[in-house]
Formats: sequence, C-alpha cells, structure tokens
Amino acid sequence: MTLKIADHPYTFGRLHLPVAPKCNIQCNYCSREFDCLNENRPRVTSKVLSPQQALYYLEQAMALSRNIAVVGIAGPGDPFANPDESMETLRLVRDKYPEMPLCVSTNGLDLLPYIDELARLQVSHVTITINAIDPQIGAEIYSWVRYNKKMYQDIDAAKLLIKKQLESLTRLRDAGVTAKVNVTVIPGINDFHVITVASRVAELGADILQCLPFYHTKETVFENLLEPSQEMVQEIQDASSRFIPQMKHHDRCRVDAAMMLKLAKSAALPEKRLEYRPYIAVSSIEGVMINQHLGEAERFLIYSMDDRGKCILVSAREAPQAGGGEQRWKELAVTLKDCRTLLVSGAGSSPTKALKTNGIEVIVIEGVIKEVVSGIFSGQDLKELMQRSQIHSGSSNCNGTGKNCG
Ligand code: SF4
Repeated sequence: MTLKIADHPYTFGRLHLPVAPKCNIQCNYCSREFDCLNENRPRVTSKVLSPQQALYYLEQAMALSRNIAVVGIAGPGDPFANPDESMETLRLVRDKYPEMPLCVSTNGLDLLPYIDELARLQVSHVTITINAIDPQIGAEIYSWVRYNKKMYQDIDAAKLLIKKQLESLTRLRDAGVTAKVNVTVIPGINDFHVITVASRVAELGADILQCLPFYHTKETVFENLLEPSQEMVQEIQDASSRFIPQMKHHDRCRVDAAMMLKLAKSAALPEKRLEYRPYIAVSSIEGVMINQHLGEAERFLIYSMDDRGKCILVSAREAPQAGGGEQRWKELAVTLKDCRTLLVSGAGSSPTKALKTNGIEVIVIEGVIKEVVSGIFSGQDLKELMQRSQIHSGSSNCNGTGKNCG
C-alpha cells in the first residue's frame, strides 16, 4: 500500500466518512451548522454515520466507483473529539480493505494519544490545520479550546492548541506517518504569518503544506472579513515553497449526487449493522397505499432503492397463517429477515414487540407507498414524514381491526 502525498486526493477519488460530529475547539470562521471547514467544502452539512454505517457507505461507494482510492475522516467535527467512533471506523475499514490508503484530518488538539495506533493501522497521512504558531495570532483565530474537560480561552487556548499541534507533528514524523499541514489564509489576521508557520512546521518534519483560502461564513466572528484574492494565496504559496512543498489545489472534499444518496441510505441503517437488511416491507391491500393492518395482511410487498434513489418493488412474500399466537410473529420475523422496517396502517403491541426484538421496526402509517418508502430510504426526517403521511407511531394508535394480531 503506497500512496504518494502528491497523489492525494486529486488524481484519485477521496471519500470522507462523516463519523465525528463534535469539535473540541471553536475557530472564528466556523459555523458548526456546517462541516469542519479545514478540509471540507464550505456550507455543506453531512449526515453523521456510526462506524458500521460508514463501512456500509464505503462498500456502496466501492460498488459505485472503483475510483475510490483514499478513505478519510475529516468531520463533520474533529476526528479526535470523537476518538472512539473515528478509531473504530478506521479499524473496520482496515479489516475489510487491507490495501486501502487511509487519511485523517484534524485540528491536532487531541491527536497525540492516537498516533501509535494510526501508524499500526497504516494510516498513510494525517492532516493538521495549523493557522498560527504565534499564540497572539492564534488567540484572534480561536474562541476557545476544550481539553481534558476544561475550557481555555484567549491566549491560553491558543498556546495549548499550538503546543499540541507542534508536538503531534514531531510524533508523526517519529512514527513514520506522513504529515500534511493545512493553513487557512485569513486576510489581516494571519496572511503575513503563514510563511513563519511554513518554516516552523517544515523544521518539525511536516511533509507538505496546503494554503486554503478563508471562506466567509455568516454568523461567525469573522463574518465581515474579506476572502483572500487568488493572487494573495499564490504569493503566500510561492514564499512558503522555499521551506516546504506546496499542495496547490484549493478544492476541498466533494461528494457527488450519487454518493449523497449512498450517504443518506447508510445513515438510515441501524447504527449497529449486525445483519444486512436492505429492504422495507409494506402491508397494502392494492399495492399503492399503505392501508392494511398487520394482523390482516396475507402478503407483504418488499421494496429496495436503486442507485438513482427510486424505490423499486422486488418481491411479494406470503404472510404466515393467522392464529398460532407468538409463533406467527416469529415466523414473520424469519420471512422478513432481510427487512429493517415494516410499514403498516395498524399493529398490535404484541407483534410490534416481537418484530422489534428480531431487528424489524414496525412503523404505523397511512400514505402512498412510493413516497413513504423513498423518504425512509433517503434518510428523510421521520417526524416530517409522519406529518405529511399522517403516521401514527407505535401500537398505541393502532386503528385497524386487530382481529388477527393475537
Ligand atoms: S476544527 Fe475549526 S473548522 Fe473544524 S469543526 Fe472545529 S471549529 Fe469548525
């Protein structure tokens, strides 16, 4: 597994796995409504995936495009503000794809304790965003830093963050992990300081530097600052290149529409994917509406989602014979063992509970099958769907006859 840093990420496809929602610092250009700006495209909000969902997302991405050649974690917050999720994800990906180059992008505050394991997992490179090495300048860029459950502000926050970032660079070099440094060029704040950052990080063993232009984001401390011109960024790159090689692409991570669908589909999976459950089952009298009580269903329609996000009917399955009490619902759980959700217009508490125990969520709803199924597959908010489709959740609002629920 060799990936030259110059190959990343532009000559290959890069896929970010959004498993890290929290952040441990506050950059004055960042609105936490959106993904971490230090590596991602501005004004994008990712769905957050569990490690298991992230692996599924990657599997889907690999099936869609053989061009995925680097897998990374870069948010939506900071990977090491969510270390359990981030490290578990890296382990799962490494297990499944032993040759896959992995990367991580972080602000560096909590990176140190994980560097040895990152090296063992053969993470090919780590990106640290270092916007200043002078704490006075750092204090203008960061509002606060939270470390070991303690809040730091002003110069103390900047001092602590910079110390951890620079220590991490040295440790990455010692562990043999390639280190990339990102600097956000913020006119009037650190533009004149980037060259000093470049020189210092090069001394500590950083391999490459990327100057990213500051993006103006509403409702942030820096909302009134101007974005740097291309010429300004170019001049800074040229000056910094005396100390360290430059990565010159300004493009941050992109996810195309097909991948957004895969992301939504992955986010809609159970957080712990113990079994592969790609389908949604529906109880319907005529095959258009969800309009049949669970106890009265004689067959269930099984739906999947295609790569364009359209819901497709894949089969119809016979319901177990009425009567037989609990045994009937155990049999139904086997019939629907590859379904994660069952949509019905009514259900009693006994079958709802029995199916839930077997990994099938029963949702009581009335509405057009294709609308509801597509909504669930694409990760739409269930509450919105409930309002639109007059969903009644759970068994308490059971409105069917229920005559066969026993
Ligand atoms: S590191 Fe900065 S830019 Fe990234 S999520 Fe945290 S506050 Fe936002």
